[in-house]
Amino acid sequence: MTISAKPPTFCPPEYLINSIKRKRSGLTLTCEEVQKIITDFLAGEVADYQMSAWLATLATAGIDIQETEFLTRAYVNSGKQIDLSNIPGPVIDKHSTGGVGDKVSLIVVPLVASCGVTVFKLSGRGLGYAGGTIDKLESIPGLKLNLSASEACFIARQVGMIITAQSSELAPGDEATYKLRDVTGAVENISLIAASIISKKVTVGADALLLDVKTGLGALIQEQKEAYKLADTMIKLAKQFGINANAVLSDMSQPLGYAVGNIIEVKEALVVLRGGVIPRLTELCQELAKQMLCLADPSLPEVAAEQKIKKALQTGADYEQFQRWLSAQGADLSYIKNPEKFPSAKNRVQIKSPLSGWLQEVNPRMIGMAGLCVGAGRVKESAQLDHTAGVMLYYQIGDKVKTGEVLAELYYNNGDANRAVNLIRSAFIISETANAARPIIHGHIK
Ligand code: URA
Repeated sequence: MTISAKPPTFCPPEYLINSIKRKRSGLTLTCEEVQKIITDFLAGEVADYQMSAWLATLATAGIDIQETEFLTRAYVNSGKQIDLSNIPGPVIDKHSTGGVGDKVSLIVVPLVASCGVTVFKLSGRGLGYAGGTIDKLESIPGLKLNLSASEACFIARQVGMIITAQSSELAPGDEATYKLRDVTGAVENISLIAASIISKKVTVGADALLLDVKTGLGALIQEQKEAYKLADTMIKLAKQFGINANAVLSDMSQPLGYAVGNIIEVKEALVVLRGGVIPRLTELCQELAKQMLCLADPSLPEVAAEQKIKKALQTGADYEQFQRWLSAQGADLSYIKNPEKFPSAKNRVQIKSPLSGWLQEVNPRMIGMAGLCVGAGRVKESAQLDHTAGVMLYYQIGDKVKTGEVLAELYYNNGDANRAVNLIRSAFIISETANAARPIIHGHIK
């Protein structure tokens, strides 16, 4: 028998096992303990399976607001922080907890910037049925989305706004632990979500933050009561780090707008930026933009903020702002001026209504999954996207439909179109009795 002289790669660190046991028996974590665990994990001294067990224990046993703050701080300390001090005036950030058809950042960021408030927005890619802002923007030829912090600050100062990809130098502790939470069923925990989101916001260091917390079937947290709790936790946490945050609770019981896909969502965003009205989407964008202006200037009455927003939409100031920003980040503006130039998918399948009645449900998860089947989103991180693929919806909940009318169209080149069509068909529930349209705004937390 040969005995290896080498120790096993991962001797279970005693303190990590103790931390799990203490947490399980109802004790609370200390700041030093959380910091050490995150530092050691990033240094490769804690194995993935050990970290997964720790995260699962936090998710099941629960952590209080102070422990959540310790975790947030450890994530922030794990990487760099952006210095926004060179940008004059208040700088506002915005975050959405995500959903299907959520192209709000593409509209709200230039809209707010066109009213004279600087917006600094780091965004992510989509994973799973919900899309990501960076994927949508990547369908605009030439647009550079991997800027360094100094490039991002320079552009924000020059044109009043920035949207760029979240760098892995910022809060790498969150990035690494999120990957484990994602594959071990430990995402849907309010404290862990709050620490993850707020740590990334602290690394940006904006003066104020508006949270768009989604609730409903397609949201990360579906129950409205729980979504309120998430919003409340994030606001409290942001305050601990000196960020003034407010939240809007918005509806994700159906996709937002009509387009679900990358190029088609950019085109829909352009319609709103040019003053067009897309039910629910335009209303939400106006509300979020208004709340952002009020956060930037607490003395500004909501009515005055609303007037500013409406004026920007009417005069096209937001659309001009969008183009100024795109140009600063290298985009080919000919696609924006003439959206017909964007490529489209080779194939289309229409999904028709099997009966007459009123739309009772348009399941956002099923629509998002249909997009995944044809490459509009990614199932795993390394997957290649088809920016032309997606689902175009023609109705929203509460609308009247007749037998044979086209409810939706699938745009695709590759993938499993049959499965996508079946998912889209199952997403629609039509009732014989009229039902009301769903409100897009459920509430505010300030
Ligand atoms: N988005 C994040 O950034 N983190 C989470 O934990 C969940 C959603």
